[in-house]
Amino acid sequence: MINDDDCPDPGSIGAALLGVVTDALPTAIAYVDRNRVYRYANNSYLKAVRQSASDVIGQTIDSIVQNEWLSDDVIEMIHNRVARALNGMASEFSFKATLPDTKEEIWLLATYTPDIDPAGRVRGYVSLFRDITEEKAIESQLQERATTDPLTGLRNRRFLEDIADQKFAEAERGGKTLGLLMIDVDLFKSFNDQHGHATGDEILCQIAKAISDSLRLGDIVTRWGGEEFLALLNSSEQGQIILAAERIRQSVENLHLQPGTLPYPVTVSIGAALCGNDPARLDQDIEAADKALYAAKMNGRNCIETSPRFSGGGAADKRKFDPES
Ligand code: GH3
Ligand code: MG
Ligand code: MG
Repeated sequence: MINDDDCPDPGSIGAALLGVVTDALPTAIAYVDRNRVYRYANNSYLKAVRQSASDVIGQTIDSIVQNEWLSDDVIEMIHNRVARALNGMASEFSFKATLPDTKEEIWLLATYTPDIDPAGRVRGYVSLFRDITEEKAIESQLQERATTDPLTGLRNRRFLEDIADQKFAEAERGGKTLGLLMIDVDLFKSFNDQHGHATGDEILCQIAKAISDSLRLGDIVTRWGGEEFLALLNSSEQGQIILAAERIRQSVENLHLQPGTLPYPVTVSIGAALCGNDPARLDQDIEAADKALYAAKMNGRNCIETSPRFSGGGAADKRKFDPES
C-alpha cells in the first residue's frame, strides 16, 4: 500500500527536476542576486570557473570576475553588463578569457537575463555562458577564406572594402593621406598565349610576392581582378607613394633575374592616386588610380602615372621615375 505522505509535492518535484536538468546541461548557469551575490551555480558553471559550490555560493561576483583569467577591459565590460542586468536589461556579449592553469585562450558567450518580480523589482539575474572558442575559430577561418585570393594568397577586394573605414580613421588620426596604387601586368594576354596559362598563374604569384615585399607593414595589397592588383598605402607624402610604386615596378621588372623565379621577363604599369578623407568616396579614388593606370598604358607601359591630385601629376607625359632627379 502506497502512503501518499511519502510522495513529494509537485513543487518540490519541479525543483528537483530543474536541479538535475540544469546540472546536466553543458551551458554554465548561475543565479546572482541584486547584491551581486551568487545564489546558484550549476555543475558546468563550477567546472568552468574551476571552483567548488562552497567557494562560489554566497560570494559576490568579484570572487570570480578576476584578473587571474580576465583582462581589465573584460572585467569592466562584465561589470557594466551586470549593472545593466540589475537595471532590468538583458544582454548578450562575448569575451576572451585565459585559463589560469594552462594559459589557453578561450572565447565565451554570456547572456544575462534579469529576474524581475511581479511588482517589477529586479531580484537578480540569471547568467548563462558557454565556450564558443571553436565557433570563433571557424568564423575567423571563414572570414579569412572569404577575404583571401586563393591563387596568390593576397587579400581580395572584399577585404579592402571591409577595412577601408578603419584605415581612413587611422590615417585621419595620424594626419596622413592614404595612397592608392593600381597595378596591372603588361601584355599579359600574350604572355599567357606564349607560355601557357599555368605559367601565367605562377608568374602572378611571383608578382604578388614582389608587390608585397616592396611595401611596408600596414600597407594593404589586394588582388583586385585577374592580373590587376590594388595597394592601399599608409603613406603621408606623395613622394613616398611614388617611391613605393617605383620599388614595385623595378622589382617586377627584375623578377626574372632572381634565382628560383620563372625566367620570363614581365612588367607592370602603375596608376597612383591620393585618397580624400572620406571612405565613402573610395570608389572615386580608385577610379582616379584606374585613370592614371590607363595613362601609364598609353605612355608605353612599364611606368608610373599619377592622378591630377598629385602636385604636377596627371600630365600625359611618360613618367619613368628617377629617384635621383
Ligand atoms: P595590357 O598591357 O593592356 O594590360 O594588356 P593585357 O594583355 O594584360 O590586357 P588584357 O586585359 O587584354 O588581358 C588580361 C589578361 O590577363 C587576359 C587573361 O588571360 C589574363 N589573366 C587574367 N586573370 C588571369 C589568371 O588568373 N591567370 C592567368 N594565367 N591569366 C590571367
Ligand atoms: Mg594587363
Ligand atoms: Mg587588366
